[in-house]
Amino acid sequence: MRVLVVNSGSSSIKYQLLEPESGTIIASGLVERIGEDDGGAIEHTAGEQTVTDKRKIPDHTAGLRLAFDKFAETGHDLAQAGITAVGHRVVHGGEVFYRPTLIDDQVLRTITELSTLAPLHNPPNIRGIEAVRTLLPEVPQVAVFDTAFFHGLPPAAKTYAIDSQVAETHGIRRYGFHGTSHEYVSGRVTEFLGRPADSLNQIIFHLGNGASVAALRGGRPVDTSMGLTPLEGLVMGTRSGNLDPGIILHLMRTAHLDVDGIDRLLNRGSGLRGMAGVNDFRELRRRIDAGDTAARNAYDVYVHRLRHYLGAYLVELGGVDAITFTAGVGENNPDVRADALAGLEDFGIAVDSGLNTAKDRGARRISAEGSRVQVLVVPTNEELAIARAAVAVAGMS
Ligand code: ADP
Repeated sequence: MRVLVVNSGSSSIKYQLLEPESGTIIASGLVERIGEDDGGAIEHTAGEQTVTDKRKIPDHTAGLRLAFDKFAETGHDLAQAGITAVGHRVVHGGEVFYRPTLIDDQVLRTITELSTLAPLHNPPNIRGIEAVRTLLPEVPQVAVFDTAFFHGLPPAAKTYAIDSQVAETHGIRRYGFHGTSHEYVSGRVTEFLGRPADSLNQIIFHLGNGASVAALRGGRPVDTSMGLTPLEGLVMGTRSGNLDPGIILHLMRTAHLDVDGIDRLLNRGSGLRGMAGVNDFRELRRRIDAGDTAARNAYDVYVHRLRHYLGAYLVELGGVDAITFTAGVGENNPDVRADALAGLEDFGIAVDSGLNTAKDRGARRISAEGSRVQVLVVPTNEELAIARAAVAVAGMS
């Protein structure tokens, strides 16, 4: 069985062809700079072979067609490959979609309507779906929503304290994102610990370029840091996370920023990049080591926010069995893990510095021998989760 997974962004398409049972990746790639005047690019890897190409890519269909050419060049003609399903990452499922869903015209229309809730994310996801429909019309396509896992958040956690009529009219509530990752990782945690999901309280830090934290009781989420949009919560690569909403009013009045200016500032010019000039954690580390005080300060703000949520979720859950780190920063940065959990021995949380700094890559424990709370690092794999969900849904159709 083979599944093509597509993650279509505003100017890029990430894709992977994989076997959902084993998780074996047959080929993967990234099409970048779609629609840019000075040309686009593709990097495609199949086994040991990587091919690259630079050329103008006017739209997502052209980008995907180029990817299909690269598949053929490296020995996998997708039209002949017997693909069982195509799984699409779709960011916002609103109130409507809370499980992976087979895409038909009506579903596509609804995802389009939900673009008002995610104007930066859903439209490029739709372009990816339309491109695949053009190129592989016979293959079932499944939408896997980033919000779905958090559909059942308790009312107290999902409700914003604003006029309820306004909230109702405009769909304003906390939806949560990175759900595919949080769900996958929480499942891996229960496997790793060999305990049933319903016996565990978990806190999961997904720390990539975007970052969120989730609190789970018995496998179900009871809170998460992202909200109506992926802007809320933790400090991220380029997003601010939590702010006093009054800052927006203040900037509109005093700096005369309009909606687009505020959007750019908070989504792309804030977070680590806004404070330190870089959003990549490796470069941030280099600058801290070189004595850059802005980089140091940005790091401290980042860690401060992690601890803020950790404290909140410890109390919300009334105790936790496992704290897990995942995604680019969570999996690879021992300093962040150590600093986020420093000095919490009285809460039963102790990190073993040897285990924490070991160069392992798989799912692993980093808590000290006597730590009541298990501290884990678990690599996420959203593509695999999407592929498995796509097969499950396509199989039912
Ligand atoms: P996203 O999928 O949200 O774009 P990732 O999960 O790939 O993000 O995470 C990107 C972040 O992870 C970057 O800040 C990057 O510096 C960091 N990162 C990735 N690999 C490493 C590594 N080997 N060591 C330290 N940081 C890493």
